[in-house]
Amino acid sequence: MEKKQFQAESKRLLEMMINSIYSQKEVFLRELISNASDAIDKIYYRALTDDSLTFNKDSYYIKIDADNENRTLRISDTGIGMTKEELETNLGIIAKSGSLAFKRENEIKDGHDIIGQFGVGFYAAFMVSDVVTVVSKALGSDQAYKWESEGTEGYTIEPAVKDSVGTDIILKIKENTEEEQYDEYLEEYRLKEIIKKYSDFIRYPIKMDITQRSLKEGSENEYDEYKEEQTINSMVPIWKKNKSELTDEDYANFYTEKHYGFDKPLKHIHISVDGTIRYNAILFIPENIPFDYYSKEYEKGLELYSNGVLIMNKCADLLPDYFSFVKGMVDSEDLSLNISREMLQHDRQLKLIAKNINKKIKSELKILLKNSREKYEEFFKSFGRQLKFGVYNDFGANKETLQDLLMFYSSNEKKLVTLDEYVSRMPEDQKFIYYAAGESVERIEKLPQVELVADKGYEILYFTEEIDEFAIKMLMNYQEKEFKSVSSGDLGIEEETNDKDEETSKENQELFAAMKDVLAGRVKDVRASKRLKSHPVCLASEGDISIEMEKILNAMPDSQNIKADKVLEINPSHEVFQSLKKAFNSDKDKLNLYTNLLYNQALLIEGLPVQDPVEFTNDICKVMI
Ligand code: ADP
Repeated sequence: MEKKQFQAESKRLLEMMINSIYSQKEVFLRELISNASDAIDKIYYRALTDDSLTFNKDSYYIKIDADNENRTLRISDTGIGMTKEELETNLGIIAKSGSLAFKRENEIKDGHDIIGQFGVGFYAAFMVSDVVTVVSKALGSDQAYKWESEGTEGYTIEPAVKDSVGTDIILKIKENTEEEQYDEYLEEYRLKEIIKKYSDFIRYPIKMDITQRSLKEGSENEYDEYKEEQTINSMVPIWKKNKSELTDEDYANFYTEKHYGFDKPLKHIHISVDGTIRYNAILFIPENIPFDYYSKEYEKGLELYSNGVLIMNKCADLLPDYFSFVKGMVDSEDLSLNISREMLQHDRQLKLIAKNINKKIKSELKILLKNSREKYEEFFKSFGRQLKFGVYNDFGANKETLQDLLMFYSSNEKKLVTLDEYVSRMPEDQKFIYYAAGESVERIEKLPQVELVADKGYEILYFTEEIDEFAIKMLMNYQEKEFKSVSSGDLGIEEETNDKDEETSKENQELFAAMKDVLAGRVKDVRASKRLKSHPVCLASEGDISIEMEKILNAMPDSQNIKADKVLEINPSHEVFQSLKKAFNSDKDKLNLYTNLLYNQALLIEGLPVQDPVEFTNDICKVMI
């Protein structure tokens, strides 16, 4: 019999499959089952317009049979079948659009990308088999045909005997190698597992004869083995069901079944859209942070189904980074049938879905914030950091979207509050949204810099996470109110006793100048403080980089030793100030000592390391003796 050659492009794809080092070879089954399901669909659609055909759902199914002895795996369907010509053109040539067409040569390599993301259809069978045989009888035809191929050498077609319409695909499973256990594709439990994983929601039953055991009659420990036909897939996916039919528990079970997490979902979002683009989605906000969430290993993404067939495990394009914690799946008919081939043309659809989903997540989070405050706070404690990163990243492109979802700890409320809540209760004379940055709430509460703002009764937002101040700098303002750090040079608070302050400053100009000399290169200025009430000293910063930011930037691996412009503020009403004055007038060494001490104290209060701890302790001793 004549051996026919594959088309060049098909041959290349075939070679790729045969030599594939792709780790998930199991997807071959998904591809063959989805072809089988498509073939049944075709009869179904034909019956819609052809009166001579009736579609009785019960007679359509897919059957999987493993024969261990002969090392064959058979996938049969009762679909539309293929004529001789169709066998030639469909299996001998890569179909019309061609999987390879959209991938440039250098992107193919071992085919990892194509297989992983789009699937390659029928040829995937060659990843696990030495010989592939297709016996098919087309609808309306009397004669069946057998197509057979051992790979790149070509294929043969000859007449065959087959009673019913449909297609049988018989794979001669490869022998085990050192690296690869092909045997598993003949094992019942493994096949079941693969079917469940990828094809659970195929609309037609996928049947298998499953081995059962029953006690032998009259025996207590001897069993009879027999086969029983079972349907492996559940067929109706939960996302196609009506929301009103489903309970929280159903969603929670789905979450667990799908291995979205070990926790329970904090909230589920079920979307069914039937407009210009049609899709169903079930999304979850996890209760706990996945252990690798804030690491590089974490991969965001949603499962993507095309009409019930899993195409991609983690479609990253469906989620923006700031919602990367969302788990779940999307199923769309509009990405259907030939997604593998025409994915890129459909890209616009995917983008639309992504945009839609993004909006929905945001609005659902807002609803959660409004109606279930406690739950929202729980959510925010886990994933708020990601939202703040979202505000900061991409040069603030998403800040408008996210600003209303942010929360910070409030000095007055002693709990998390939103920016809207803060602004809505600002007294009329308050010009800024005040914040204080530090390691923890307890630390910030003790910061000398908060004194004046707190005394004024103004609410202060506590920034305890590294990203906070960076995010807020990106935000710049909220409802036209600017953010201001309590450590910044000018607090924008009118002080009643200005005249007196000015006098103090003038009077002590020389003293401050002398102190500045002592601290040359370490601080930009030394001044009388307006904000200190009971504390003797503090550091303030001028310019864009705050002291807190300096700490964070310098803790990064490739830090550039960035410094904030620091100002040492001295409280003129504190007793220490009198000692400073005295020293300035009579004992320059003492002034030197006091200045260094005060500077180091201010560093400690800020949580910055003192420059020379030995010198610092020596200095303290000098004051003691
Ligand atoms: P795709 O399914 O992405 O078009 P495949 O390589 O998987 O690409 O299949 C090529 C074609 O072969 C299909 O489009 C279909 O026309 C035909 N085909 C494959 N499997 C079957 C089957 N079980 N029954 C009928 N036709 C099939």
